Amino acid sequence: MRRKLAAGNWKMNGLMEDLEQVRSICVAHTDPAVDLLICPPVTLVSGAVKVAQGHALQIGGQDCHALGAGAHTGDISASMLRDAGATAVILGHSERRADHDESSDDVRAKARAAHAAGLMAVICVGESLTQREAANTLDIIGGQLSSSVPDTATGENTVIAYEPCWAIGTGLTASPDQIGEVHDFIRARLERRFGAGVGRSVRLLYGGSVKPDNAALIFGVSNVDGALVGGASLKQADFTPIINALEGSIHI
Ligand code: PEP
Repeated sequence: MRRKLAAGNWKMNGLMEDLEQVRSICVAHTDPAVDLLICPPVTLVSGAVKVAQGHALQIGGQDCHALGAGAHTGDISASMLRDAGATAVILGHSERRADHDESSDDVRAKARAAHAAGLMAVICVGESLTQREAANTLDIIGGQLSSSVPDTATGENTVIAYEPCWAIGTGLTASPDQIGEVHDFIRARLERRFGAGVGRSVRLLYGGSVKPDNAALIFGVSNVDGALVGGASLKQADFTPIINALEGSIHI
């Protein structure tokens, strides 16, 4: 049984005062039936870890360097995130692939570093609108998966987030059929590469304009084990109904 996961990506949003939202999520979900993760900007990681102490909420980073330390101004290593109390890190988000030219090889090296530091890597894959319209979606996802996921992946240390680039922050959501097709494909690829044990234990998240009003529909799709949520994770009032919908999907 894969435990469901509701993960929030705050991107470059959040000041100290927003730790109040972290506190509210903890208070609203004292005994959640799903795993909860918030990935704030790195300036808030240790503050969020303190706020979440003693609660079920886990805190993660949004990126890490592939190396442990060195002359890399502005970067942060996986072990630094772990040292600050983070337990996970988002890697290969499409905004990092686009803004920082990150390749899938870069993402694989970072994921290996995350695993070595004891972090769970949330590895993102997703096609652009042009690629979808050219009917290349599964080829793109297959290529990103094989190059971005390291051989060190297990069900405990790796989560895959399918995030169609055209659905991120746009208000557009992939249809249940589109999501199901890609998630079933990812599951089959993982099983083929890692065997049934690991392949069936890695959790698959959908991301792309998940909101309180579409969450239940998305969580009813096969092989959807939760969501990576951007905008709607910034406020507890928006994130809570998504968490509730995920908890509700356990009994479907
Ligand atoms: C994301 O940042 O990963 C994301 C899916 O954003 P949004 O939910 O805002 O589309």
